[in-house]
Amino acid sequence: MPKKTVRDVEVNGKRVLVRVDFNVPLKEGKVADDSRLKAALPTIRYLCDRRARVILISHLGRPKGAPDDRLRLNPVAVRLGELLGRPVRKVDDCAGPAAEEAVAALAPGEVLLLENIRFHPGESKNDPELARQLAALCDLYVNDAFGTAHRAHASTVGVASLRPAVAGFLLERELDVLGRLLAQPEQPFVVVVGGAKISDKIGVLENLMGRVSALLIGGGMANTFLAAQGYGLGRSLVETEKLEVARQLLSEATTRNLRLVLPVDLVAAESQEPGAPYRTVPVGAVPEDWMALDIGPETVRLFADALAGAKTVFWNGPLGFFEQPPFDAGTLAVARALPPAPATTVVGGGDTVRAVMRAGVADRITHISTGGGAALNFLEGKELPGVAVLLER
Ligand code: ADP
Ligand code: MG
Repeated sequence: MPKKTVRDVEVNGKRVLVRVDFNVPLKEGKVADDSRLKAALPTIRYLCDRRARVILISHLGRPKGAPDDRLRLNPVAVRLGELLGRPVRKVDDCAGPAAEEAVAALAPGEVLLLENIRFHPGESKNDPELARQLAALCDLYVNDAFGTAHRAHASTVGVASLRPAVAGFLLERELDVLGRLLAQPEQPFVVVVGGAKISDKIGVLENLMGRVSALLIGGGMANTFLAAQGYGLGRSLVETEKLEVARQLLSEATTRNLRLVLPVDLVAAESQEPGAPYRTVPVGAVPEDWMALDIGPETVRLFADALAGAKTVFWNGPLGFFEQPPFDAGTLAVARALPPAPATTVVGGGDTVRAVMRAGVADRITHISTGGGAALNFLEGKELPGVAVLLER
């Protein structure tokens, strides 16, 4: 990795501000899913063991730049303490006198969790004054929040430019795994893209096209490609303003002689209402007032065939309206068709990760990315601002 990590710097006795992604679901005052906390443990433990004063900072939800009692990080501190097996202190602000006092009271090896950084309006504006206040709390900055590395915020870029800044282990792993997809993917490299809209993913498709041996497109975004080929799609989700882009991508794929697989059959329904009538139809036979909500079994077979011999797979975007059975069938079947190790399988995107969890195949996947937007930005070939600001090795 071209960036320095916590291994490359002296941390003993230092006040180390670690940007983590503790944006976890809360339920009845408790952390409902602690996987993001677990993912941050290696960096936190490493720093504690080397007697750093560990100061954690995160956002949670979208509090709109003002305190919101429902989005306080107190339940996170409790759960993190249980996972770490040592107490985690918590302070009700993330900058200013209260935070400074809490940091001053911190002994080497102790952990303090600051309050939700998005309670401050300056966070998302990368306000220099907030960045300065955060810098006043620390001697060293560590970014371990890949999920927000594509945003230039005060806690990801502002403070990092005022202090020596390095990557944590989680960020390092993300950059390594995703970096290999771009640099030297073992072939055949198969990319599966789904989700609602092609507009989110055009850049990724363009950047990956020259690197893959097959591109499998499903979900809502496939509709736009099918419409571009002239198929009628009834009331399906189609981005009419992106038809030209879809046509260009299709012709580029032809020029490159790329294996681009689009659905050959679809599961269409009268509406998205639960219980509405539905049936599998060949592409081109979606009834005029119906909508395509999943890929059909013939398409699943084509996708599974392409995946069978793959040595590298990246998947982003569910292949149907998977939140509502039976329209999860295509997504779940493709999840189960992912090739086992030693193939490298990488999955990114909040909904895609939920889908592979539900399919029960999460433990067979090489890497589940903690960043949806960040992973897509990275694979588009963009430099992530939160990474760019870290020290070069
Ligand atoms: P991720 O969160 O993994 O990045 P996206 O947010 O891009 O994925 O896409 C997920 C959304 O796309 C889901 O809400 C899913 O219901 C929707 N979707 C996928 N296929 C269809 C479809 N055919 N019609 C309507 N919505 C779809
Ligand atoms: Mg999503």
